[in-house]
Amino acid sequence: MKQRNKAAFIDRDGNLIRETGYLDSVNKVRLYSRSIKALKLLKDRGYKVIVVTNQSGVARGYITEAFVKSVHEHIDGLLKKHGLKIDGYYYCPHHAKKAVIKKYLVDCDCRKPKLGMIKAAQKKFGIDLKESFMIGDKLTDVHMGKNAKMRTALVMTGYGEKEKLLIKEAYDKPDVVAKDFYQAVRLLLK
Ligand SMILES: [Mg+2]
Ligand SMILES: [Zn+2]
Repeated sequence: MKQRNKAAFIDRDGNLIRETGYLDSVNKVRLYSRSIKALKLLKDRGYKVIVVTNQSGVARGYITEAFVKSVHEHIDGLLKKHGLKIDGYYYCPHHAKKAVIKKYLVDCDCRKPKLGMIKAAQKKFGIDLKESFMIGDKLTDVHMGKNAKMRTALVMTGYGEKEKLLIKEAYDKPDVVAKDFYQAVRLLLK
């Protein structure tokens, strides 16, 4: 099958919405103000927007999968006011070592930087990874993008400033370092 769609894979916490540690209430969900502009630009250019997020808080027993889904519904509600939507949400609830709930104690294929979430989205949406990119605030995001042979951006929101200090030793470097999600989109679209 020809893979026709291009996608922006985006990290959730510290990129689309503010990083709050382990988010435990939908009332703490705050979109970065420029996330709206970023999403509009992606939509104008014909990109599918796919959120890929590690949520080991589920494995650690801090939150439930139902809560993760409720956060995504809440984000959808906030975006709807702007005529925007996320095409797909993918999350990894596992942790290979720190899980306190047995079914999540898995060395899974979906925890970033592994490619399970990308592969699932690719299959569902027919995505051409060569035309796609990954944006996030951690080197894990960059590594996942590079593992999928995509271009990547590291943003300076969330953990970005700290992560930037580690680029030198990292085995994969981001193609661009951007102030935030919107600037990352601008730079990657050039
Ligand atoms: Mg993040
Ligand atoms: Zn997983």
